[in-house]
Amino acid sequence: MKMEKIIAAVLFLLGSIFGSFANVCIWRLPREESIVWPPSHCIHCQKPLKFWHLLPIISWLILRGKCGMCGGKIPVRYPLVELSTGVLFALIGWQWGLSVETLVYCLLSLALVISIGTDLSHQEIPDQVSLGAAAVLGLIALVTFNWGSLLGGAILFSLLLLIAVASRGGMGGGDIKLGLAIGLALGWRLALVAAAAAFFTGGILAVGMLLRGKKGKALPFGPFLAAGAWIAMFLGDNLIACYINLSLLLWAW
Ligand SMILES: [Zn+2]
Repeated sequence: MKMEKIIAAVLFLLGSIFGSFANVCIWRLPREESIVWPPSHCIHCQKPLKFWHLLPIISWLILRGKCGMCGGKIPVRYPLVELSTGVLFALIGWQWGLSVETLVYCLLSLALVISIGTDLSHQEIPDQVSLGAAAVLGLIALVTFNWGSLLGGAILFSLLLLIAVASRGGMGGGDIKLGLAIGLALGWRLALVAAAAAFFTGGILAVGMLLRGKKGKALPFGPFLAAGAWIAMFLGDNLIACYINLSLLLWAW
């Protein structure tokens, strides 16, 4: 078996376990509960889970989406979060192998998955996630002398702050802090791609909602920032190359 395949498989397993941790964070952080104590318990009967209830994705499938003790329904969000974190980690490992990029992108992806969850359920992105990720990513940038990362963090943070001020609160503080983490992970070039992609996808949906008469309903921007970050992470270099070629073509014409 090729090395990339082994790395991707190991990272899928690791990602699904971190996805299970993400589920705990998504449920507990907005409720201001500790993420380490008490140990995982059923949200219905509060009984602590046995280890075979904790296997990512598999437990949910075997128990058919129900608690093994009280039969309470476990939302499909749980295996979905585990699966998507696993797939993201695997794709990153496949592309970047054993490298600092893989570590940085997996860390960011975990923070993004949790942010999407809490932003959709509680319209907030906890500081522990955004600033916690930013602190670790900033430290990695410092010890690897990656000035492009620090610049990326500064650019995205200032850009979103500017929009927040200009739109008088149209952009939340959580989004700005998440932007800092995204910029630190991606570096300044990809951070700009991420911002453009986030506004593009967010803009399309906002226009769609306006056209369907759903005016005035604030869109949580966290999921779009996350989508933008992943687009930049996986496709950014190609998008930049396309953009430059297109600009040169138009300029020559
Ligand atoms: Zn239960």
